[in-house]
Amino acid sequence: MTSQTVAERHAQARKDYEAFKARGLKLDLTRGKPAPAQLELSNAILSLPGEGVYKSADGTDLRNYGGLNGLAELREIFAAALQVPAGQLVALGNSSLSIMHDTVVHALLSVLPGGEKKWAAQERIAFLAPVPGYDRHFSLCERFGIELIQVPMTGEGPDMDVVERLVAEDSGIKGIWCVPKYSNPSGISYSDDVVRRLAAMPTAAPDFRIFWDNAYAVHHLTDKPSEIADVLKLSEEAGHPDRPFVFGSTSKITFAGAGVAFVGSSQANVAWLLKNLSMATIGHDKINQLRHVQFLKDAEGLAAHMSAHAEIVRPKFDAVDRILTEQLDGTDLASWTKPEGGYFISLDVPEGCAKRVVTLAKEAGVALTPAGATHPYGDDKADRTIRVAPTFPVLSELEVAIEGLATCVRLAGYEKLDS
Ligand code: PMP
Repeated sequence: MTSQTVAERHAQARKDYEAFKARGLKLDLTRGKPAPAQLELSNAILSLPGEGVYKSADGTDLRNYGGLNGLAELREIFAAALQVPAGQLVALGNSSLSIMHDTVVHALLSVLPGGEKKWAAQERIAFLAPVPGYDRHFSLCERFGIELIQVPMTGEGPDMDVVERLVAEDSGIKGIWCVPKYSNPSGISYSDDVVRRLAAMPTAAPDFRIFWDNAYAVHHLTDKPSEIADVLKLSEEAGHPDRPFVFGSTSKITFAGAGVAFVGSSQANVAWLLKNLSMATIGHDKINQLRHVQFLKDAEGLAAHMSAHAEIVRPKFDAVDRILTEQLDGTDLASWTKPEGGYFISLDVPEGCAKRVVTLAKEAGVALTPAGATHPYGDDKADRTIRVAPTFPVLSELEVAIEGLATCVRLAGYEKLDS
């Protein structure tokens, strides 16, 4: 591009940006929340379980204490989706993030199966953080002083050459964060080879754990659902049965604020976790678990319900891709992912421009997740990655927000080239 063209494009982008800003909009693309239209899909739950209904299939009175591992019939519905045998799956309260948090805390305070010392008694604790990744995984570790070591993501999961080398030589590395299906924020799913290598790799730490956050296990956007390899089974076959903790929830299936969370693992890990959880509760909300059983019915019911979500979410993902393509294709200013499920799109802009894009967008009334949030300590060294969360706004507002975002990318990009 000649400097003349860059200057012209810069001037045009500035003009478009000022015009956009003058509209005085207030749009929010920050967090991956279900839209009200998606929440409507589950409104039947609000009148369940119904008057006089409070027993499980085996006749247990669910109004009372007990049943720390959760309702068996609900665990049956989710066992296949989460790839955990129902007997090794636990249904809890409403947040999987809180159970990830508690699992880390319990590992800090009590020796894990196969471990020698509790993590808190060890000199240095570190987790691998594939980037870009989920900010709350990172802040959870930061809060407990657990060091985060960045590992680059590839199109099929974390770069396994890097992962294998690091865990083999460093006994301080106790865990890795994985969102294996429709990852947050790139939307990629792990290849079978990556899962196999994670399950089989030698680790210097005997108490190394994979935190397998399968938050988007059933959140497909196409009729070709992504299938990932079974990490629990592969780990067992590789002689590391206690390696993975699998997490999931119905937060983006029924109600984000009133769903059910799950954790699954080996028998030994589940026994360890339940023992520790029993210090904090005598049992979770089993009436809510019963509502979910009544509403979803079985694995087929779950799949049908997720197709209804996809009808609402897919046009939004399509709109983001269409508008970014119209506005940025051929400019060399951006690349973005085209996920086939999940809640996020990852947008990469020229190095050194992500913060500028987010600031420009904010000043024009479009709130984005802060640049850097996809990296531990908020530190995206290349200042390049922006997480786009398209689900919450209605389609018409989303389209305007993405047009604005694309304008900000052009302005930030040409500003840089023109400087
Ligand atoms: N894990 C991932 C990867 C997520 O994206 C989210 C929500 N944004 C969560 C966990 C939160 O799950 P929950 O609502 O079950 O706490």
